[in-house]
Amino acid sequence: MAKLDYYTLLGIGRNANVSEIKRAFRRLAMEYHPDRNPNDKEAEQRFKDVTEAYDVLKNQEKRATYDRFGHEAFEHGGQGRGGFGFSASSFSDVFEDLFGEVMGGGRQRSSAQRGDDLKYQLDISLEEAFSGTEVSINLTTSDTCGACSGSGAELGTKPEVCPSCGGRGKIRLQQGFFMMERTCASCRGAGQTIGDPCKNCNGQGRVQQEKSLVVKIPKGVEEGTRIRLTGEGEAGYQGGPSGDLYIFIAIKPHPLFQREGPTIYCKAPISVATAALGGEIDVPSIEGKRSKLKLSAGTQTGQKFRMRKMGMPRLNSSHVGDMVVEVEIETPVALTRAQKDLLKKFDQASSEKSNPKTTTFLTRIRKMLGETVE
Ligand SMILES: [Zn+2]
Ligand SMILES: [Zn+2]
Repeated sequence: MAKLDYYTLLGIGRNANVSEIKRAFRRLAMEYHPDRNPNDKEAEQRFKDVTEAYDVLKNQEKRATYDRFGHEAFEHGGQGRGGFGFSASSFSDVFEDLFGEVMGGGRQRSSAQRGDDLKYQLDISLEEAFSGTEVSINLTTSDTCGACSGSGAELGTKPEVCPSCGGRGKIRLQQGFFMMERTCASCRGAGQTIGDPCKNCNGQGRVQQEKSLVVKIPKGVEEGTRIRLTGEGEAGYQGGPSGDLYIFIAIKPHPLFQREGPTIYCKAPISVATAALGGEIDVPSIEGKRSKLKLSAGTQTGQKFRMRKMGMPRLNSSHVGDMVVEVEIETPVALTRAQKDLLKKFDQASSEKSNPKTTTFLTRIRKMLGETVE
């Protein structure tokens, strides 16, 4: 499905300014917020979409890139297992924009910031979705700095009281009759500064590191199923909590099966003779076995057969879906002379009764054209 244009999603013009973007987002995010729309898949999707749109448009650089290249500028997925579908999009950032201000900007007095959430697309096969699996993934992300345990201050030193605000985190300003308070710019409201930053992480409290994770994929996952690994996202800034890692499942196309929820569909070509005479055919099962399907004489193309409990398991449930086999009669090709002769003989021996549909069709044509019908 084509993705909606970010401006359209937010219902704003292409030259909307930052505060218009913010206003539009806040209104829509409130409307579609999952807490207000429990169990509403559509609202959830809308919420995700507008959040994504806002995340891009509020940032001047990202917005310029988007204006030039469209959605493609931000799509990194589809690189297969180990392909790194990394998105720096930070859910927490957006929430802070949304709710931080609504609640009066009551930020914590600390320079520690939560790490970004990460997004990782994991491609698995339908068989793996059927049985569940364990996959190890490698990703480069910022991890807590081991040298300073994430504080950002060189070992043996401590952050110092911020000289600009005297540790209050806020600076008072006289404006006419009013006394105003502003967050201290030097310490960003933390009230303390790091005098001797950790050399390993330059005072960040985190360093870029390759890490390897084993992810348990439960059976029954579907395209787009999201698995959240709490605390496995980017490490926080100066001792802040880590973000989360979101694994998005993508299921690779299968050469034999199509899947819709717990139901598996399989198209089975059969010969004209089998269709006419009936018989047993081999059908595959997602379990990796061969099963027999009995066809009665006179089976027609497009006929569907439901095989109980041969579909996919449902996520977090003991329910197992069915497999629906649709037969398709294959018209024989590349015939030898002998085969042609047999078919001609067969046709001559056929009666109207053997082909009731054809007979009805021809009768209707004759009726329509006003020809006599016995
Ligand atoms: Zn450090
Ligand atoms: Zn300060």
